[in-house]
Amino acid sequence: MSTLELRLADEDATTALGQRVAAVLPEGLVAFLHGDLGAGKTTFARAFLRALGVGERVKSPTYSLVEGYDLADRRAFHLDLYRIADPGELEWLGLDSLAEPGAIVLVEWPERGAGALPPVDLELHFRHEGAGRAVRFEPRSDIGRRVTEALEG
Ligand code: ADP
Ligand code: MG
Repeated sequence: MSTLELRLADEDATTALGQRVAAVLPEGLVAFLHGDLGAGKTTFARAFLRALGVGERVKSPTYSLVEGYDLADRRAFHLDLYRIADPGELEWLGLDSLAEPGAIVLVEWPERGAGALPPVDLELHFRHEGAGRAVRFEPRSDIGRRVTEALEG
């Protein structure tokens, strides 16, 4: 499956990307957000969730590990597993609903939840590039490929 590379010159570009992905969301989506601290994962997730209509202020799941949102017709989840030491810790969070059909799931530090997360549709790799950031889309399913293709060009 073909990948897509985008430069994100400033924070507004990361925010705009979150809005663009939300705008082309075909149905449910499981996206893993990779990258070092400060690479732009939460900035992207916040813009994406706001664009989907999360009215209440988007909270950071830094300490709660997971935040869930009821949207008009589906549920969205934002996870940040940075503080997880062992994927077994996730059993206590009741993550079964992440696998609901149509659920929208964004996971920061997904490698720390290996085995406890639903199958991924799209992996986004964020990185520092000069003063800005860059991101690489790696689709892992037809859904992920449709989102990636919609952002090309
Ligand atoms: P992460 O969740 O990956 O740790 P954050 O989204 O919290 O990173 O972003 C860390 C900082 O980077 C924030 O201050 C944010 O404003 C900034 N930032 C986000 N995207 C960009 C960008 N494209 N260029 C420069 N700074 C950015
Ligand atoms: Mg973050």
